[in-house]
Amino acid sequence: MDLATLWYLTTGTALIAAIMTLWERKAQAQRARELGLWAAAYLAFAVGCVIAMNRHAFPGMAGPAITNIVMMLGYFLMLQGALALDGRRLHPALILGLLAAIGIAWFVAGVGAVGLLWNHVSAFPIAIVAGSTAFTLLCSRTVQALRSRPIAVAVFACHALFYAARTFVVPVIASIYGESVLALAAEITMYEAVLFTVAMSMSLLALVREEDRANLLATARTDFLTDLNNRQGFFELAPRRLSGTAKDAAHSLLAFDLDHFKAINDRYGHEAGDRVLKLFATIAREIAGADAMSARLGGEEFAILLPNRKGVEAHAIGQRIAQRFAEMAVRPDGLGIPATVSIGLAEASGEQVDLATLLAAADRALYRAKMLGRNRIEMAQPGQAARAA
Ligand code: GH3
Ligand code: MG
Ligand code: MG
Repeated sequence: MDLATLWYLTTGTALIAAIMTLWERKAQAQRARELGLWAAAYLAFAVGCVIAMNRHAFPGMAGPAITNIVMMLGYFLMLQGALALDGRRLHPALILGLLAAIGIAWFVAGVGAVGLLWNHVSAFPIAIVAGSTAFTLLCSRTVQALRSRPIAVAVFACHALFYAARTFVVPVIASIYGESVLALAAEITMYEAVLFTVAMSMSLLALVREEDRANLLATARTDFLTDLNNRQGFFELAPRRLSGTAKDAAHSLLAFDLDHFKAINDRYGHEAGDRVLKLFATIAREIAGADAMSARLGGEEFAILLPNRKGVEAHAIGQRIAQRFAEMAVRPDGLGIPATVSIGLAEASGEQVDLATLLAAADRALYRAKMLGRNRIEMAQPGQAARAA
């Protein structure tokens, strides 16, 4: 394939990447800044390609110099987009300063050095900025768990390595085998440019879409009012939490049901009822601790799974939650609403705890707590506790 065709192909690919990215930007408001920066970067690459194809029409070394500066602008925009994922950025003045420095370097080097700069030296800043982008994506906390992240990292890392080789390896090979190596290197460079543009845009779009999907999934598993897990989240995530625990470990589950909640709604209004639910959720989450898994199963019913906690420990935790809730709800400087909670507790041990069985046992204990006068905690009878399947 001749070089001109590859330049046209790279230009077209960069333009398509820009359009696709701008289109995606409409649907991904939370990543509008990143996608905007990346789309601008692809546009810079496309413009850079057009200037490169016509670089000989410019006086002196202006053509290659401007090409290099526009391409570098593209790479800085890519990096800026990657940094934006974590709310970070390079100061625009720094980018402008570096671009100006590159421009000055071209003009100081002079016409005699155009070949050296175009073929080798100009590849070095590209390697640095593409490498920094790979490193930024590698360290990004917000996209850490995403499956497409290693691909995006690899794309930028390979590109950085390729350009580092252009700077340091190609001159050595050219000095051994002669100038014909440079023509081959130029062709390979353009071939790589097409692949890089496709891989880069696809992996970054995949990253943003995957993050969006993960956010949707998290929303589907979260209770809107209390921000705790909802029933679906609880039944999906709790088994995963238990799967990492020791085979003979004991686990406890607390089932909660607020007392006379209908009466609270009737007397103080539905909004006040919502505030009571939120207060309970806050207290439960705080007292249960980070290891626990709290959920609002529905209405005024909650559950807390306590991995690696025996019944006695869970009993104390349940009691603390009930006490604090009753105290806080009635406080005149707080809600000023007398509210209490009944609790059922079940314990299980064994290799495979069946969550539904455990919850059913806790629910039966909860029913007893209600029968025995409410505002109390009851433990499941030994026969009712869920054992390993
Ligand atoms: P018990 O002590 O036997 O549990 O009595 P209760 O009144 O708490 O039980 P019941 O099941 O009769 O009433 C539950 C009430 O919870 C009825 C419903 O209106 C209310 N509720 C369910 N979801 C919400 C909610 O999101 N916000 C508010 N404010 N109330 C809710
Ligand atoms: Mg209920
Ligand atoms: Mg109730």
